[in-house]
Amino acid sequence: MSNSSEGWIEVAKLFAEDREVEILCPECGKACLKSEEIALPSDKTVEKRIYCEYCGAENFMRLNKKF
Ligand SMILES: [Zn+2]
Repeated sequence: MSNSSEGWIEVAKLFAEDREVEILCPECGKACLKSEEIALPSDKTVEKRIYCEYCGAENFMRLNKKF
Protein backbone atom coordinates (compact mmCIF):
# COMPACT_ATOMS: atom_id res chain seq x y z
CA MET A 1 0.00 0.00 0.00
CA SER A 2 1.12 3.51 -0.73
CA ASN A 3 0.19 6.59 1.21
CA SER A 4 -2.38 7.54 -1.37
CA SER A 5 -5.40 6.93 0.87
CA GLU A 6 -5.47 10.61 1.83
CA GLY A 7 -5.65 11.42 -1.84
CA TRP A 8 -8.66 9.15 -2.24
CA ILE A 9 -10.39 10.78 0.73
CA GLU A 10 -9.98 14.11 -1.01
CA VAL A 11 -11.29 12.60 -4.25
CA ALA A 12 -14.35 11.25 -2.44
CA LYS A 13 -15.07 14.68 -0.96
CA LEU A 14 -14.87 16.35 -4.35
CA PHE A 15 -17.11 13.75 -5.97
CA ALA A 16 -19.64 14.10 -3.17
CA GLU A 17 -19.89 17.81 -3.95
CA ASP A 18 -19.84 17.55 -7.71
CA ARG A 19 -20.36 14.22 -9.37
CA GLU A 20 -19.09 15.45 -12.72
CA VAL A 21 -15.86 16.87 -11.39
CA GLU A 22 -12.63 15.95 -13.14
CA ILE A 23 -9.87 14.94 -10.78
CA LEU A 24 -6.41 13.66 -11.53
CA CYS A 25 -5.76 10.15 -10.34
CA PRO A 26 -4.05 10.25 -6.92
CA GLU A 27 -2.10 7.11 -7.76
CA CYS A 28 -0.42 8.03 -11.04
CA GLY A 29 -1.31 11.71 -11.47
CA LYS A 30 -1.43 11.17 -15.23
CA ALA A 31 -5.09 10.75 -16.07
CA CYS A 32 -8.44 12.04 -14.91
CA LEU A 33 -10.53 9.63 -12.90
CA LYS A 34 -13.63 8.11 -14.43
CA SER A 35 -16.67 7.15 -12.44
CA GLU A 36 -19.77 5.08 -12.72
CA GLU A 37 -22.69 4.69 -10.38
CA ILE A 38 -23.97 1.33 -9.33
CA ALA A 39 -27.53 1.25 -8.05
CA LEU A 40 -27.93 -0.78 -4.90
CA PRO A 41 -31.03 -2.78 -3.96
CA SER A 42 -31.36 -0.77 -0.77
CA ASP A 43 -32.40 2.27 -2.67
CA LYS A 44 -31.23 5.02 -0.34
CA THR A 45 -27.66 4.95 -1.54
CA VAL A 46 -25.76 4.49 -4.72
CA GLU A 47 -22.32 3.03 -4.90
CA LYS A 48 -19.89 4.99 -6.98
CA ARG A 49 -16.94 3.31 -8.57
CA ILE A 50 -14.12 5.71 -9.24
CA TYR A 51 -11.36 4.37 -11.38
CA CYS A 52 -8.34 5.29 -13.45
CA GLU A 53 -8.04 3.88 -16.95
CA TYR A 54 -4.37 4.71 -17.01
CA CYS A 55 -3.05 2.78 -14.02
CA GLY A 56 -6.08 0.68 -13.06
CA ALA A 57 -6.51 2.14 -9.57
CA GLU A 58 -10.05 2.07 -8.30
CA ASN A 59 -12.04 2.96 -5.23
CA PHE A 60 -15.62 2.74 -4.15
CA MET A 61 -17.70 5.21 -2.22
CA ARG A 62 -21.29 5.36 -1.06
CA LEU A 63 -23.45 8.35 -1.80
CA ASN A 64 -26.90 9.17 -0.63
CA LYS A 65 -29.33 9.42 -3.49
CA LYS A 66 -30.69 12.88 -4.02
CA PHE A 67 -34.39 13.19 -4.64
ZN1 LIG B 1 -4.02 6.38 -12.27
